[in-house]
Amino acid sequence: MPNDHGQHAARDWAGLPEEEFRLTVRAVLAELLDDHVERWERDGSVPREVWTRLGSLGLLGMGLAADWGGAGADLSRSVAWLTELGRTGYGGFRTAIAVHGYMATRYLSECAERELQDKYLRPSVTGAKIAALAISEPYAGSNLAALTTQAVLEGDAYVISGVKKAVVNGTIADYFVLACRTSTASSSARTGMSLLVVDAALPGISVSPQPTLGWRSAGIATVRFDRVAVPASQLIGRPGGGFFQLVYGLQYERLVAAAAALGGVEFCLELLAHRLRTWRVQDRRLADFQAVRHRYAVLATEAAAARELVARASRGFDSSQLPVAECSMAKAFTTELASRAADAFLQLHGSDGYDEDSVGARLLRDSRAATIAAGPTEVMYDLIAGALLD
Ligand SMILES: Cc1cc2nc3c(=O)[nH]c(=O)nc-3n(C[C@H](O)[C@H](O)[C@H](O)COP(=O)(O)OP(=O)(O)OC[C@H]3O[C@@H](n4cnc5c(N)ncnc54)[C@H](O)[C@@H]3O)c2cc1C
Repeated sequence: MPNDHGQHAARDWAGLPEEEFRLTVRAVLAELLDDHVERWERDGSVPREVWTRLGSLGLLGMGLAADWGGAGADLSRSVAWLTELGRTGYGGFRTAIAVHGYMATRYLSECAERELQDKYLRPSVTGAKIAALAISEPYAGSNLAALTTQAVLEGDAYVISGVKKAVVNGTIADYFVLACRTSTASSSARTGMSLLVVDAALPGISVSPQPTLGWRSAGIATVRFDRVAVPASQLIGRPGGGFFQLVYGLQYERLVAAAAALGGVEFCLELLAHRLRTWRVQDRRLADFQAVRHRYAVLATEAAAARELVARASRGFDSSQLPVAECSMAKAFTTELASRAADAFLQLHGSDGYDEDSVGARLLRDSRAATIAAGPTEVMYDLIAGALLD
């Protein structure tokens, strides 16, 4: 609810009934994005005051425990929040917040020592520090085992050299959760990889904005590390534990990506329904043409299926088994559906949809990012087949 100053205050987000939660955060986001978000898209990142505003509302720590100022909510509440972020219709904004709140910080909350958690998680929940996750490299994306960024122990510091690409929030981050090799070349890919927290202001780090087709406000960057020294105490968990931390964390990332993409699909289909009911050709509503009705009906059916897949993947984290197939199915199906829905949206807006600054063009550009980021669809199918057949 807005307070006397017309602003929304922090709430007990975990305690609200789901529908009330959704409607409240929807209003908060609508007010926050309003006519500002187009500027963020042009500027290439979400400005710092938006992070601190979301932090003051308690919305950056939805997935984190109360120990660090988080909402202490269960995973289904995070799924609802991510879906609402997706429903804003801005893939860059939703991804910037999701990477910060659910991907980068997740490794700290799950695997780091208490001291490191205190240093980074609290300010991440308030928005005082912005997080990025730096895993992918120019020649190592879907194949994690090919990572070459090295962190060599010299005295009590790791000295890091390497290049990371496509880093969301890279242009504005205060710290990176970085995947690198910490052991000798003779170690296997599995045992030689570690995660380090690296302050972005350290000497030797250079950040270059990486212009992308979509997700334009996500601050995507290429980040170079040239003999960057970080204290050994910045290691997340134990040396060499990175591969297994990532194998677990990436499943979670895929659920997060799927929930956010689902919100994008809901936004797209809602606007499309309005278009079909109101736009007239040959003196009929678009919604009166069978070819159009069926196209919409198929997408709506698939959206209902996507909702179930996302919910199933979320429930999967309650079991002792890592829900690899469930997360991969949810991610592949929902992100591919978002592309099909955006394609239909653009097509059914005719030449208006093809204008560079149209909603349809943005939806299409943004949807193409999600079928690649956090693991391409083909890799999802490999993982599903592996879980079901091998
Ligand atoms: C918009 C965006 C944001 C991103 N954000 C981040 C981020 O914040 N941090 C980060 O570390 N990384 C990020 N990434 C990187 C992302 O994780 C990688 O792009 C992804 O893992 C694929 O790696 P790659 O780009 O090197 O493609 P490659 O691994 O070279 O693969 C290229 C293509 O080959 C095909 N392919 C790959 N594997 C298989 C297979 N097994 N079977 C069949 N076909 C296959 C797929 O079509 C794939 O797209 C982002 C990417 C994008 C596009």
